Amino acid sequence: MGQWFLTVVTVCTLTEGSLPYQKSRNTVVTMKGTLMNTDTTDTVKKRSVFDAVNCQFFKAADLLNMSVSHRKLLSTPWRELKVSIPFIDDKGELQVYTGYRVQHSGARGPYKGGVRFHPEVDLDEVRALAAVMTWKTSLVDLPFGGAKGGVAVDPSLLTERELYALTSRFMENVKHVIGPYRDIMAPDLGTNSKIMGWMMDVWGRIHGYTPAIVTGKPISLGGIPERLDATGLGVAIITKEVLEKHGEKIEGKTVVIQGFGNVGSFVALHLEAMGAKIFAISDKSGAVINSKGIDVKKLVSHVNNTKKVAGFSEADVGVAEELLHLPCDILVPAALGHVITEQNMKKIRARYVIEGANIPTTPEADEYLTQNKVIVVPDILANSGGVIASYFEWAQNIQMHGWEHKVVEEGLTRILKTSFQQVCEASKKHNVSYRVAAYLVGVERVYHAQLARGF
Ligand code: NAD
Repeated sequence: MGQWFLTVVTVCTLTEGSLPYQKSRNTVVTMKGTLMNTDTTDTVKKRSVFDAVNCQFFKAADLLNMSVSHRKLLSTPWRELKVSIPFIDDKGELQVYTGYRVQHSGARGPYKGGVRFHPEVDLDEVRALAAVMTWKTSLVDLPFGGAKGGVAVDPSLLTERELYALTSRFMENVKHVIGPYRDIMAPDLGTNSKIMGWMMDVWGRIHGYTPAIVTGKPISLGGIPERLDATGLGVAIITKEVLEKHGEKIEGKTVVIQGFGNVGSFVALHLEAMGAKIFAISDKSGAVINSKGIDVKKLVSHVNNTKKVAGFSEADVGVAEELLHLPCDILVPAALGHVITEQNMKKIRARYVIEGANIPTTPEADEYLTQNKVIVVPDILANSGGVIASYFEWAQNIQMHGWEHKVVEEGLTRILKTSFQQVCEASKKHNVSYRVAAYLVGVERVYHAQLARGF
């Protein structure tokens, strides 16, 4: 997984006269800036998800007139760790899984990023997600770098004891590079606060107690209530801001959401509370549609009981594969990456695409949608509410002090609004899309921090 065929020439460019260079073990950036994955000897070139993220980085680097050597430095992960995760399953048999922690850039602070448990996790995807975290934490001006972790596993197939054994061994095997001022983990796809609590316990048993080692953990261990819905709330706040910027109101707007986990469910609840009409929702079990609007609270209760949206009695059965193509005002992908691609970009009929998921849109689809006047709000802005709340959790843990809820709520809204304002200004100044503008703001801060460190 994590690769798709490159069918059009990429738009990434290097400075004039620059030579091809080895960007990573298997990837070469050519003179024209085309990213080639040298894993394949086929005449058809493949491009990785990580290369797709770098494609966006190179657009910002162009606008900043960045040197070739700094492009190389900032487009290459600082450290990559691949670990074997053995444990004995409930039948007494040895199971061995593979896990990763990629630390992309620590120029602006400790590495920060979630851990994903999903069967399609691979090094390329974790690299890409780590890079996204670098640009995201910088865009919203948090004192963090970017990292990501993952284990190639379907957690729904493990028992609670097996999941605990896998999580503990993963943390034991990456413990050397983790720390409250070094690298702080958080939940992502397939992980949750319970898993964060286990990770905190394992690290604490080895290095000494500190709740600041993970964010998104249970409140009983120093987590904060605001972290649970922060990503979804942030997506809803940004959606409202973007609509208002374009002279529209959120009330009555039709919304389609792919994914109904942590992000998707809270996006739905908050947008519904703001007056939008959520009429189609999917998860991995299928899709549900109600043209009059889905009662999101009832769907949440149905999912709490059954673990899936399928079977919800107050909506019709939808075709999950067609969900992204439904005509609507606002489309929120909030599940997997690279779901809006060259294959389906012409079928998208939303006016706004708000990226709740990480990397849901390929560079080609992004360009196509932008050219066709679809407003695309990039992941590094749209879903940054999670890491902003994580920052507040970490800062409280570091101080061993609990802040008032109001401080976190106000801080989240203020940071999101300020960041969107900065993206709007960069977009206007350079006449570029919100995505290019967001990368520009994020990349510039990391670039300057890197220069201030001496190179
Ligand atoms: P989650 O595990 O809580 O939920 C994932 C949801 O996606 C589930 O409802 C699942 O059924 C659904 N899903 C899986 N495969 C699907 C498919 N093929 N079609 C439709 N739905 C499918 O994960 P999450 O934490 O909500 O993360 C979702 C996305 O948001 C990921 O891309 C993640 O990287 C991103 N994200 C999460 C956070 C966070 O704080 N959790 C922060 C920023 C970004």
